[in-house]
Amino acid sequence: MPAQKKESVKLVPFSPEWITTGNSVLSELSSVMGSIIVDKAHIGSTAVPGLRSRPIIDIAVAVRSFDTVPVFFDRLLEMGYFHRKETDTENQIFLSAVKNKLSVYVHIVIHGKTLWNSYVAFTDCLKKDESVREKYMQLKMSLAGRFACDRRSYTAGKSEFVRRTLRTKCYISERSCGAVVWKIRGGRRHYLIIQNRSGHNGFPKGHMEYGETEAETALREIKEETSLDVTLDTSFRAEYRYLVDGYIHKSALYFLANYSDGVFKPQKGEVYGIWLLPLEEALEKLDYEQDRRILRLAEKRLSQSEHETRNQKRRL
Ligand code: ATP
Repeated sequence: MPAQKKESVKLVPFSPEWITTGNSVLSELSSVMGSIIVDKAHIGSTAVPGLRSRPIIDIAVAVRSFDTVPVFFDRLLEMGYFHRKETDTENQIFLSAVKNKLSVYVHIVIHGKTLWNSYVAFTDCLKKDESVREKYMQLKMSLAGRFACDRRSYTAGKSEFVRRTLRTKCYISERSCGAVVWKIRGGRRHYLIIQNRSGHNGFPKGHMEYGETEAETALREIKEETSLDVTLDTSFRAEYRYLVDGYIHKSALYFLANYSDGVFKPQKGEVYGIWLLPLEEALEKLDYEQDRRILRLAEKRLSQSEHETRNQKRRL
């Protein structure tokens, strides 16, 4: 079977060759960049026995961070994997190859983030749920009939189904850690509030990288987002959950953190605003009630320890 032309849409019956090719690509990638691969999977329709599909083998490779990936580009190129830089996004690095006369797309993504979680969850759902599989195949066949020469519209037509399936049939959980960062300024306690890329005001926090402890994540994220070196108090732990895009069950854990020296600087492209504010102004700045509750808990804890320290000093 020749590698399929980029923009055409032709569905063909499932072939077991797709699975063997997927497996051999997974082994080949492991042999080159296994040292940075956290997890990997053959994803999408060609990984699901019985599904008609465009004969394109989609492979997802989860890494801890994108920083170390370019080191492997030369070796990957020697093995026939082209890095198509123009198709990279901030969430994935894209490679393509032809193996066993089949097109192969390799999606390098960050482990534990939404793209990886969604790729794996949707593929698992197709494998396990016959009714989802049937509906998906009917939809694909009808879209392929309508958009035989228009791959973009075909893909857009599938997206809504994928989103709905993720929302109703899959359980995806993600976790971020950070801290309520405070500092004494002019004799008063001030709190650090940041505006992140999604536009809401909260505390510095971020996604847990593979192998990190909660405290390590919090320290790394605070450093990256604010450039501050803080002292973490892990005896304070406050956590809440929320739903992102209607299907990602996200939990955010906050410690307390203090700094005395250093100037905060917002991380380029990630943090749009940063403020050091006294309690009342910080409470006003925050967008979510859950964050306000955490800030009140932090203030209560810090006032109590201040009070105890004062009493101890008096007793001495
Ligand atoms: P992270 O900083 O953990 O890497 P992120 O920057 O990708 O994550 P979130 O802060 O989780 O994103 O925000 C994702 C979406 O969830 C945004 O639309 C945001 O407004 C919303 N969101 C954030 N915090 C809350 C909350 N406490 N309650 C409800 N929705 C929230």
